[in-house]
Amino acid sequence: MALIVHKYGGTSMGSTERIRNVAKRVAKWARAGHQMVVVPSAMSGETNRLLGLAKELAPGKTDAAYDRELDMLASTGEQASSALLAIALQCEGMQSVSYAGWQVPIKTNSAFTKARIESIDDERVRKDLAAGRVVIVTGFQGVDPDGNITTLGRGGSDTSAVAVAAAMKADECLIYTDVDGVYTTDPRVVPEARRLTSVSFEEMLEMASLGSKVLQIRSVEFAGKYKVPMRVLSSFTPWDIDIHEEAKSGTLITFEEDEKMEQAVVSGIAFNRDEAKISVVGVPDKPGIAYQILGAVADANIEVDMIIQNISKDGKTDFSFTVHRNDFARTMDLLKEKVVPALGATSVTGDAKICKVSIVGIGMRSHVGIASKMFRSLSEEGINIQMISTSEIKTSVVIDEKYMELAVRALHKAFDLDQA
Ligand code: ASP
Ligand code: MG
Repeated sequence: MALIVHKYGGTSMGSTERIRNVAKRVAKWARAGHQMVVVPSAMSGETNRLLGLAKELAPGKTDAAYDRELDMLASTGEQASSALLAIALQCEGMQSVSYAGWQVPIKTNSAFTKARIESIDDERVRKDLAAGRVVIVTGFQGVDPDGNITTLGRGGSDTSAVAVAAAMKADECLIYTDVDGVYTTDPRVVPEARRLTSVSFEEMLEMASLGSKVLQIRSVEFAGKYKVPMRVLSSFTPWDIDIHEEAKSGTLITFEEDEKMEQAVVSGIAFNRDEAKISVVGVPDKPGIAYQILGAVADANIEVDMIIQNISKDGKTDFSFTVHRNDFARTMDLLKEKVVPALGATSVTGDAKICKVSIVGIGMRSHVGIASKMFRSLSEEGINIQMISTSEIKTSVVIDEKYMELAVRALHKAFDLDQA
């Protein structure tokens, strides 16, 4: 007997019919002798619907004035789906009880709409499990020190599930979703993309941060910190498939590097269009310019990703960096109004039509020439690289957005990712 956490995404909970299927699947696991905790998302579209209502009432409002109420509002989506699942389980003949975040409680800080989990009390859940109940815990929500309902940011139910699994010292956290695992790249871009049977936690962390949308990045951080065994698998297999087969399906996130020894050097290609590039042109090349430019950006709470400073010519240099596309206009304004005049730079230019393409693999630690192979295959396609950044296990490039799919396909092929 094991203690298992299941997490079901919005699509898996998308209708009463699907909720009934989830209940049948969970009941199958419970009848096999496991203690079950289930963390559902809101029914698909529900969180958007609720937040859309708030937007109708307060159009264009961007300050944090009503963030508390947004959490009060959005958290109801998970409360509804959790109760429905508990009802469906009872109809399957299982004893079941659902809890909102504050009832467990899942304690968070007070950062409404993006709260962080601080602790989870496992006592109440354990009592129910011991009494033979399936316990449903709402995803996405918690409670702050003043008793306010908080939410964990979009996609936060993944993090709820992993955090509950960590607190309960669960044997495994299974993330059921509408894809059947983690792929070498997005199959919509490269039809030859393959599902990985396992991926290391560090690779998953890079892929999540680089644009693969399979898991909320914070859930992966949590899994890493608490070594929670975690698997991503499909909720669209028939609910009555053999449980042993199901338990081995999808993609396992591993912590053992040795297990990955014979795997490919590069495990996956990630990409996103979330960033925009900004260049401050004609900056006097003297100590402190990086600080003056990026300090001002950081003070405005804008996150910077890649950074390049060109070599200087005639005492002047260009300084380029990327920010999230949502912060693009704000950063441009800030630089034009404050930084360029203060620095005596020539101008600011920006380009939002870029994308970032990355190769990821822990094998890159022990192999040389991987980045150059990447650059070679991009050059063979005639794709110009605008920026490069590397870490121990990834290399990212910024290129023109219109070459994104071509680049991803070329790299997928170059690193033999379409071959099992
Ligand atoms: N319902 C929330 C959202 O749509 C949380 C989640 O589904 O993970 O972002
Ligand atoms: Mg999700």
